[in-house]
Amino acid sequence: MRRFIATNEHNKGRDVAIIGGGIGGLTAALAFARSGADVTVYEQAAALTEVGAGLQITPNGARALNALGIDKALAATGLVAQAVAPMDALSGQRITRFDLSTQTPQYRFFHRAALIDILARGCAAANVTVRLGMRIVDLQADGSFSVDGARVRPDLTIGADGLHSVVRSHLNKPAAPFFTGQVAWRAMIKTDAAPPVARIWMAPGRHMVTYPLSKDRLNIVAVQERIAWAAEGWHHADDPGNLRQVFADCSWEVKSILGAVENVNLWGLFRHPVAPNWHVGSIAILGDAAHPTLPFLAQGANLAIEDAYVLARCCGEASSVEAGLKAYQGLRRARVVKAIAAANSNARNYHLSGVPRMVAHTGLRAMGAVAPGAFLGRLAWLYDHDVTG
Ligand SMILES: Cc1cc2nc3c(=O)[nH]c(=O)nc-3n(C[C@H](O)[C@H](O)[C@H](O)COP(=O)(O)OP(=O)(O)OC[C@H]3O[C@@H](n4cnc5c(N)ncnc54)[C@H](O)[C@@H]3O)c2cc1C
Repeated sequence: MRRFIATNEHNKGRDVAIIGGGIGGLTAALAFARSGADVTVYEQAAALTEVGAGLQITPNGARALNALGIDKALAATGLVAQAVAPMDALSGQRITRFDLSTQTPQYRFFHRAALIDILARGCAAANVTVRLGMRIVDLQADGSFSVDGARVRPDLTIGADGLHSVVRSHLNKPAAPFFTGQVAWRAMIKTDAAPPVARIWMAPGRHMVTYPLSKDRLNIVAVQERIAWAAEGWHHADDPGNLRQVFADCSWEVKSILGAVENVNLWGLFRHPVAPNWHVGSIAILGDAAHPTLPFLAQGANLAIEDAYVLARCCGEASSVEAGLKAYQGLRRARVVKAIAAANSNARNYHLSGVPRMVAHTGLRAMGAVAPGAFLGRLAWLYDHDVTG
């Protein structure tokens, strides 16, 4: 395994401010701190925390995290994913099963809060300062902003402030995120030992992904196509009955999983186009701030982790911050655009109906029977990518 970062001497002593303490911001904090920068994270929330839900960390993201020196903590947490299994939600039949056990590093299922905790501990060990309850609103063109009435002027200011990024609006034409025509419920249920398999239960206009987070907890993300998002705010608690109703025509397996849901939250899935500008002067953006994606390839956090690593490496290797930021966008943009297109096309394929659905399921079954390696072969561009190389 490669270790961060022998050649990054230009980060040494640099004053780096990171706005946002989510997965992308904390990974960036760790990467810059490991290469000698003085890092401060400004997070608006009162605590470093995440929604109570699961997260799939695929080998491409794991490679970057491992190289940042948190590999042991990661290996001791989460579950190693054995397979992904496309399912027919209407009949309950498994369509096929694609083996993930050969993946190196391992593909894992995490509780989000556990991953944030590992990153936060890594940051603390690397002397990152985390300032909580700090909402940054008045960023200036020179990368400065005010904190407690005083002006802060870092050498580098990074916006890791998510979908509603103020830093993105600073670097690009301000625009509201658009509704993608999909909503997602997230829930967790108690279960008897579920195998470490991600099941994708597909039905016309909807799908549900289930995977375990521990021996007795199953994570559920259920998605439905909708014309509009009418609720106030981006997400809210919903009645589990509404979720059950949406999948009421599905198999008993699906209904029994949803029957166990006691609490559920409903998200409108919003996006921006990939930002044209990821940097200006000494300011940059990463993760959802630069390129929010639909979650149907499980890559939003993985791409944010890759961004963070590449950003720190580029800034460490270039002779000026501006040159480092330019190299960063140059290395990242095309890959991110490709991943987002793949997530969009999964959305279409999961929700097919009628003859196209039958044809697609037959194709998957044939691939699983005749060329099971083809599934991972098609995703090699994604999972085999090595930002530490
Ligand atoms: C249903 C669903 C399932 C998903 N599953 C997966 C998966 O399995 N795998 C995967 O890789 N991705 C997944 N994703 C995507 C992933 O959650 C996001 O892409 C990822 O969390 C983005 O990380 P981020 O750090 O860029 O932004 P965020 O996680 O949004 O973090 C932004 C942080 O910035 C803070 N902040 C915002 N504004 C300010 C401000 N002005 N000042 C200070 N702080 C501020 C916020 O409080 C927050 O802590 C999923 C998404 C959804 C909706």
